[in-house]
Amino acid sequence: MMETEVRDQMMHRLIKVLGRTRVLSSRPDLVPYTKDTYRIRYDEDYKYFPDAVVFPETTADVKGIVEIAADLKVPTIPKGGGSNRTGMLVPLTGGIVVDTIRMNRIVEVSVPNLYVTVQPGITLKELEDELAKHGLALNQEQGSFKVATIGGSISTSGFSRKHQKYGTIADRVMSLEVVLANGKVMRTGPKILYTSTGYRLQQLFVGAEGTLGIITEATLRVEPIPEAKDAILAFYHDFWSANEAALRTMSSCVTFTGGEAYEVEDATSLGAPQGRNGLFYLGFEGTKGEVHAQVEFVKKIVHETGGVLAKHDDAAKFMEKYTSQWCGARALTGFEDALTTYVPVEHMREFFEKLWGEVMPKHGSAPLPGEKFSLDVGRYRIMAGRFYLPKGEGAWEKYQALLRDIAKLTTRLGGSISSCHGVGIEHKDNLDLEYSEVALDVMRDLKKAIDPDNIMNPGKMLPDKK
Ligand SMILES: Cc1cc2nc3c(=O)[nH]c(=O)nc-3n(C[C@H](O)[C@H](O)[C@H](O)COP(=O)(O)OP(=O)(O)OC[C@H]3O[C@@H](n4cnc5c(N)ncnc54)[C@H](O)[C@@H]3O)c2cc1C
Repeated sequence: MMETEVRDQMMHRLIKVLGRTRVLSSRPDLVPYTKDTYRIRYDEDYKYFPDAVVFPETTADVKGIVEIAADLKVPTIPKGGGSNRTGMLVPLTGGIVVDTIRMNRIVEVSVPNLYVTVQPGITLKELEDELAKHGLALNQEQGSFKVATIGGSISTSGFSRKHQKYGTIADRVMSLEVVLANGKVMRTGPKILYTSTGYRLQQLFVGAEGTLGIITEATLRVEPIPEAKDAILAFYHDFWSANEAALRTMSSCVTFTGGEAYEVEDATSLGAPQGRNGLFYLGFEGTKGEVHAQVEFVKKIVHETGGVLAKHDDAAKFMEKYTSQWCGARALTGFEDALTTYVPVEHMREFFEKLWGEVMPKHGSAPLPGEKFSLDVGRYRIMAGRFYLPKGEGAWEKYQALLRDIAKLTTRLGGSISSCHGVGIEHKDNLDLEYSEVALDVMRDLKKAIDPDNIMNPGKMLPDKK
């Protein structure tokens, strides 16, 4: 808890910089900022309150806020759409939440250079809609695109369903403006995508979870809107037969935007024949000719792997509906968690068998119906599933032991614990399984060099040194 004297000084100075209406500090106003979409410890709901929430509009505002925080050594947590799933926004030691919701301006659209410069609080959807007016697309299609912001996406190394053709946010960050923990404003480099000069500072902030500074402006690569789009959807007996098609596609030379192989309880509402609950879908974008050729190429794979193709209109509707509803359809309740691991494909069967057959039952957990198997089709190959949180006495400890065992299984198979939801507080204490102590020390040293007083989102991402 912050000392009253420090708090009073902080409030006085924040109001001086931003005005009274852009600084919140009353208890009811702070409630929405006590946690994010991560299920924190069962008895700790509404335990962690920030001391203030502020609403900057400009880089100068952010600089003013961070100067105060640096001076008083107050924790500072930048916030975007609040959709992260691993507790990155929980104000573990109070402090100032810097809500970027008002920093949502588009600064520059360069059609000839194919980039856009924006403030960090614009949502992916808002930016996509604006870019469309210039014939451009962002293509950062996260399931949370209606609420996730550019600042949040960069800071979580957001995964895009269209990654196979367009890459993810990490591949499109050209240049960043960041307010560092000492209040200095840094531009990471010129607005260019490729250079061989110096450290790639912009990449340091990709996936940094607000622990190194506050991004106040981002320049991102964008693409022209394609001439044609298409999709295929095919039904299989189960996940494993759909996966066969996915693996064949991934190891072929065909280009596609992305897709998934998964299994649902009952796919008949999507037009599937009875008993065909394994789904395989892919999206395609490009010139009319290439899209046509790509679709025909994958249809052949579907045919050879025993899939039944959905009608063309059903596939298009599925893709459209799936994209626009994804955000809500995949939100978590307080009783479940979602894993997004990466495991080399040759170990996928072993991973899922051990996960659902041994690890989950050992800790009193089970998959949600129809959410047991899922593979992102494309080079990032994320494996996903959703499971119920353990219940009853000692449930929280069982949940933590479950996460540890999932991490052990994943890393033993050469994978990553969290291939698209970051670390936050959920995976922090299991990072030692994925990284050596030497690598973790380098991360700690970097953090210390940039944020010596540990004011930027403290307690997240990096495990304490043993
Ligand atoms: C239904 C649903 C679907 C999802 N689908 C996907 C998906 O397909 N792909 C994917 O990658 N993730 C997905 N997620 C997870 C989540 O949406 C992403 O992690 C997203 O990128 C977070 O963005 P945000 O703006 O909500 O960030 P927040 O949750 O507000 O913040 C996330 C982190 O970024 C930091 N941060 C925010 N803004 C800044 C800034 N300006 N400067 C520095 N640090 C900052 C915060 O401090 C925090 O550590 C999904 C989540 C939900 C609920």
